[in-house]
Amino acid sequence: MATVFTHEFNTPVYKGKTSFNTGLYINGKFVEGSDKTTIDVTNPATGKVITKIAEATAKDVDIAVAAAHKAFETTWGLNAGGAERSRLLLKLALLMEEHQQELAAIEALDNGKTFTWAMDLDTTFAIDTIRYYAGWADKIHGQVQETDEKKLSYTRHEPIGVVGQIIPWNFPLLMMSWKLGPALATGNCVVLKPSEFTPLTAIRMCELIDRAGFPPGTVNLVTGYGNTVGAAISSHMKIDKVAFTGSTLVGRKIMEAAAKSNLKDITLELGGKSPNIIFNDADLEQAVNWAAHGIYWNHGQACSAGSRIFVQSGIYDEFLEKFTEKSRSLKVGDPFDVDSYQGPQVSKNQYDRIMDYIQSGKDQGATVHLGGDRNGTEGYYINPTIFTNTTPDMKIVQEEIFGPVGVVIKFEDEDDVIRQANDTVFGLAAAVFSQNINRALNTAHRLKAGTAWVNCVNQLHANVPFGGFKQSGIGRELGEYALHNYTAVKSVQVNLGHVM
Ligand code: NAD
Repeated sequence: MATVFTHEFNTPVYKGKTSFNTGLYINGKFVEGSDKTTIDVTNPATGKVITKIAEATAKDVDIAVAAAHKAFETTWGLNAGGAERSRLLLKLALLMEEHQQELAAIEALDNGKTFTWAMDLDTTFAIDTIRYYAGWADKIHGQVQETDEKKLSYTRHEPIGVVGQIIPWNFPLLMMSWKLGPALATGNCVVLKPSEFTPLTAIRMCELIDRAGFPPGTVNLVTGYGNTVGAAISSHMKIDKVAFTGSTLVGRKIMEAAAKSNLKDITLELGGKSPNIIFNDADLEQAVNWAAHGIYWNHGQACSAGSRIFVQSGIYDEFLEKFTEKSRSLKVGDPFDVDSYQGPQVSKNQYDRIMDYIQSGKDQGATVHLGGDRNGTEGYYINPTIFTNTTPDMKIVQEEIFGPVGVVIKFEDEDDVIRQANDTVFGLAAAVFSQNINRALNTAHRLKAGTAWVNCVNQLHANVPFGGFKQSGIGRELGEYALHNYTAVKSVQVNLGHVM
């Protein structure tokens, strides 16, 4: 049975207590799952169970969808004006700010990311995102079209309706805010499923959503497994849109389920194998530091991770030496230790998956230049790993590993590196390092990626769109662009005097 989770944090970086109901959040209430079953939530730093949370079923999805529809028709949707939606989102941002340390601590405990990163990035960016979309809520408008003088034609950007949102485990709170912000700002109601591996911040957020005053049914949380709850959302006949962030494999299933059910609208934010290109004329020290951040940030569990590092032949040896030194200097350890840069991988599954990729790299003849092994004896820690002597067909060069594992590849010239960098099914992000502005921008423009960073990596902002080319996704999150994914355009034509 789902109960209340209470935890006392007594760590060097945060001391405090959290306590919250671990039920589903449906129609403004915390409830048990209809089968009364639970899911164990594990601390990746120890491998031990932290708590149990309620497990939703397809039946609970039906109940949540009904609640969302009721709210959409009565208290939300076209019934709540932009100013009201903005006010509630701003209130939520304030409550998140009030509980920022607690949210960061829960995220570190549940996901394994360091408390420092969870404070500086995940929670800060999540709050910024909710506040950014609060600003948009009363600025959603259509256009007036000139036709003729006896006609008035205009468009309305109406909310789509009930939106299903399915999110991954790598940035649990942040992905929730990227999804909720634009959906609520535009007047949609939400049925959200967090990852079964990292549900805690999403559950904690529901109490804040409640306190902010969102009408019951506006946001519903169904914690459960992908093949049950996720599948029920993506195939639901009364869900009008599904927004998904996760692997390309599951993204395909979502698209198929949407097509086979009610042809619901979809947006997909999927995987990546991002190239990071470093030319001879780059600022070497900066390139080394950014490259390390590119691949090791969030333990390599970032969709935009710069996992293929292409280095021009003139600086290859020096880069590799300095990059190795930098990689060695990053402390792997307890998420609540202020000196830790890298915590454990999120789960045993993910740990095993990464180790399998490392083994495949060895089996296919690549050289383990650094790491490739477990760190410590408890939890799911993996040492920063560098592969060299790879060939383009190797799995570690083509597939998303989603761990602290980078391949360093030598290239000769611009055409050569662009061909290699674009030789992937993914197209999420890319980075280029050069002090020659023409070379840097030419390369950025020729890369097939939704984001191209110049002399930096992994930079994300609430007002800058993010999303993928090719098999990295459909649609954009963040910025004004995300609003288009949550509104349906209606044309209204008014006869001002044409006689039939
Ligand atoms: P995943 O695809 O395994 O799971 C994502 C979510 O989908 C989870 O909530 C899961 O329960 C659910 N799910 C699983 N099977 C399902 C099914 N059959 N039907 C419906 N839902 C289902 O991904 P993950 O391992 O949680 O996250 C890592 C992936 O997410 C990586 O590939 C990463 O690149 C991607 N990601 C992309 C972005 C982006 O913005 N492009 C951001 C973060 C993560």
